Amino acid sequence: MNVERLLGDKGREVFSVQPHRTLGEAVRTLSEKRIGAVVVLGTDGALVGILSERDIIRALGESGAAALETPVGEVMTARVVTCQSQTSIDALMETMTSGRFRHVPVVEGGLVIGIISIGDVVKHRVAAIEAESRAMRDYIAMA
Ligand code: AMP
Repeated sequence: MNVERLLGDKGREVFSVQPHRTLGEAVRTLSEKRIGAVVVLGTDGALVGILSERDIIRALGESGAAALETPVGEVMTARVVTCQSQTSIDALMETMTSGRFRHVPVVEGGLVIGIISIGDVVKHRVAAIEAESRAMRDYIAMA
């Protein structure tokens, strides 16, 4: 199983903000879309960062409610770890575990074509384990 197939199941919609937008605007996007992170895109559509709920909590902890006026570009993580369509889900899990983050944008040809969260990966793993156990039970029942 690779990222391409997982995107086929979960969809390719990517929510983004621009770096000059405020944290308050990003919070509204996260809340409305019920997601935990947004990619930050420049005017040319290139990936310039990622902003997750953890970054927002940190900014709020440091500056209080005034942080909501801060530009996203000042709070986001600029060194984004990405993957490609052909990346395996096992490799992606390893990347998320060792990097201690829960979101990885999928980049092809310089553009973000999807985003995979730890929730998507766990859902896929549970489905795979259930299918394996069903196949095993069917096999035993036929023996
Ligand atoms: P998360 O666990 O995804 O909520 O993110 C935890 C921290 O890692 C936050 O500071 C994020 O900005 C950062 N982060 C999230 N995803 C990535 C990624 N793919 N590459 C680099 N940093 C990331």
